[in-house]
Amino acid sequence: MDHDTRGAAAFEHPRAGRRIGVRTLGIPEEFGGTSVDPKEEVQTFAIISEEIARGDSGLADKLVQIWKVSVLLRHVAPRHLQQEWFPRIVKDATFLLAHCLTEPRGASDRWLPYNVPEAAMHTRAVLKGDKWVINGRKQFISNGYDAKLFVVYANTDPAVGMLQGTSSFLVPRDTPGLVVQRCNETMGGRFMNNGEIVFEDMAVPRDHLLVEGNALSKAGIYFRPGKIIQAAKNLGVGVSTFEKTAEYVQNYIQGGRILIKHQAVACCLAEMATKLAAVRAILREASAAVDENAPDADALCNMAKLFASEEIFKVVQHAMELHGGNGVMLDFGIEKLLRDAAIFLHMDGTTDVSKFKIVKAMFPETAGAYAGPEK
Ligand SMILES: Cc1cc2nc3c(=O)[nH]c(=O)nc-3n(C[C@H](O)[C@H](O)[C@H](O)COP(=O)(O)OP(=O)(O)OC[C@H]3O[C@@H](n4cnc5c(N)ncnc54)[C@H](O)[C@@H]3O)c2cc1C
Repeated sequence: MDHDTRGAAAFEHPRAGRRIGVRTLGIPEEFGGTSVDPKEEVQTFAIISEEIARGDSGLADKLVQIWKVSVLLRHVAPRHLQQEWFPRIVKDATFLLAHCLTEPRGASDRWLPYNVPEAAMHTRAVLKGDKWVINGRKQFISNGYDAKLFVVYANTDPAVGMLQGTSSFLVPRDTPGLVVQRCNETMGGRFMNNGEIVFEDMAVPRDHLLVEGNALSKAGIYFRPGKIIQAAKNLGVGVSTFEKTAEYVQNYIQGGRILIKHQAVACCLAEMATKLAAVRAILREASAAVDENAPDADALCNMAKLFASEEIFKVVQHAMELHGGNGVMLDFGIEKLLRDAAIFLHMDGTTDVSKFKIVKAMFPETAGAYAGPEK
């Protein structure tokens, strides 16, 4: 399926998502969103995104961007922008949101971040009269090809580090100067159209500024539930892999017996199940920590995202091996789960950078400082 056909088909599912209310999680009830107990919001996101990803990881990618960006807008968008955009998102079942941070020459360091001017964003926003004029480029953006509304991060003060010099803006798709340049052919999660976006003298009304200067710190409200949702989607891929494999080994016969009767196969299945239980345990602890705003929530959600990505990848590797030759055949569907699982290793931060962030949260004075020359 090409990405345009995929795009058209992909809107059918968000429509179904609207019927059951799952598309508008994160949007305040007063604007027509689906209400969730705020004390358990992130835990609820985790349960629902796992279930959707169990069916298809790419569909989950598509929908969760609406929840994550809506939570951010709820916290940082001025009231008039919330009044304008939330009802439109609710009304239009094909409305998707995107969050644009990653650039060709800066991604992982933004997660750390190295708070020095040389590591700052290359996308620049300059205030001219009553408009912010933005120039630059964003890559690898979830829903970037289809979204109708983008949150865009840009440098508004090149003299300082990115924690002080990055601002965020709300940008409608039809803003002159916004060019959606391509749809990336991702190896997994293909139902979500990941895109590249260029800004050429894009003029955004002054009142579409979301956060001036410290936008990266304010984005924590997006990233914490974001990491939990990543781990939960990842778990959904693992659960689906286990279910398919458990069925296969109880039906496929080799050496005159169904596979599960061979002890090596049984042990491998036990390992898969144990990894899933371990991922579920850390996910449960981390999502509760985010809902409770616990002091260790930051480290825990990075741990959950990191641990899920590495363990579920191993679960899918076992599944490939247990399926033998059938594991690499398109009609068995296991290779698709391997491709989906591979994406999680670096979505929302690579494994290396996630490890840095965990240690940095634990030892901010030493591990958290810039590794450049000593002052
Ligand atoms: C499917 C998908 C969806 C995505 N969706 C979005 C989205 O919606 N919005 C968005 O903004 N981004 C999105 N991304 C981008 C994603 O967050 C980045 O891919 C990720 O942060 C890694 O950046 P990078 O690919 O540029 O790798 P790089 O930063 O180039 O990293 C390459 C390697 O170098 C290491 N490395 C790089 N710099 C450092 C450093 N300073 N210290 C130590 N190690 C370092 C990394 O750990 C990695 O191993 C998406 C990516 C994918 C694949």
